[in-house]
Amino acid sequence: MGVACVTGAASGIGAATKAAFERAGHRVIGVDLHDAEVIADLSTVDGRQAAIDGVLSAAGGTLDLLVPCAGVGGLASAELTVRLNYFGTMALVRGLRGALAAGGASTLVMISSNSTTMTSGLLPADAQIYLDDDEEAAVAHFAPKGWLAYPAGKLAIAYWVRSSAPSWMADGIRVNGVAPGVIDTGMTRPLLDVPGVSDALAAIPIPLGRWGRADEVAAVIAFLASPASSLVVGQVVFADGGTDALLQPTAHPHPLPAI
Ligand code: NAD
Repeated sequence: MGVACVTGAASGIGAATKAAFERAGHRVIGVDLHDAEVIADLSTVDGRQAAIDGVLSAAGGTLDLLVPCAGVGGLASAELTVRLNYFGTMALVRGLRGALAAGGASTLVMISSNSTTMTSGLLPADAQIYLDDDEEAAVAHFAPKGWLAYPAGKLAIAYWVRSSAPSWMADGIRVNGVAPGVIDTGMTRPLLDVPGVSDALAAIPIPLGRWGRADEVAAVIAFLASPASSLVVGQVVFADGGTDALLQPTAHPHPLPAI
C-alpha cells in the first residue's frame, strides 16, 4: 500500500477520496484549510509552499498517489477561483512531481468538471489564458468575467491532463482526470438557495435522473489511482450521470484531421 496526498480532504469529493484510499490501505496526507494533516491555504504562494513542504515532510519524500481536489465553486469570486482552482492545483502538482517520480509507479488524478462541455460560450482560448501560466494576468482577465473563470480553469486542467500525461509517464507517473457533473457537496448545496442559480442547476439534463454523490466520484478517482486502470493514460473520465454524452454525443472520440 502507498502514501497518498489529497487536497480539499476535509469535505466533499476530497473527503470521500481520502476515505476510499484509507479503505484501500493507503496512508493519506490530507491538505486543507482545516481538519487535515497539513493545514495550508492553496490560494496563496506562501500557502502552496507550506503545503508542499508539509506533504514532503509527512511523506518522507516519496508519494504514490496525488489527488489535488481543493477548489471553490459558483459562490466564490473569480479571483479566488483562478488562484485556488488552477494555480493552487498546478503549484502543488509541480511541487510534488519529484516525490511522485520517486514513488516509481505513481498516479496523479486531476479534478476537471463537466462544466467544460456544457458552458455556453466557453472557448479553448479561455483555457489558454490559464495554460499561459501567468497568474496575475489570468486574475486580471477573469475578474470581470465572473463564473467563466470556473469552467475555463477546469478546461485548462483537462487540456493539461491530455497534453502532459505522455511525458509524465516517462517518470513513471500515470496521469488521468475525472470530470464530475453536479455532485451533492458543500460546494453545490448552498447554490440551491440562490435564486436563478437553483433554476439553472435544475435545468441541467441528467439522464441518470439525479445529482451525483461524492463517494461515486471518489470511486472513479480510486479506480484511476489504482493498478486496475493501468492501461488508462491521459484520459478525462466524465462522471456526470450522462449529461456530457447527452449534450455532445459525437464530440469524442474526435478523429485526426486528414494529413
Ligand atoms: P467542497 O466545498 O465540499 O470541498 C472543497 C474543499 O476545498 C473544502 O474542504 C475546503 O475547505 C477546501 N478548500 C477551499 N479553499 C481552500 C484553500 N484556499 N486552500 C486549501 N483548501 C481549500 O467541494 P467539492 O464539491 O468536494 O469540490 C472538490 C473539487 O471537485 C473541486 O475542485 C471542484 O471544483 C470539483 N468539482 C465539484 C463538483 C460538484 O458539483 N461538487 C463538480 C465538478 C467538479
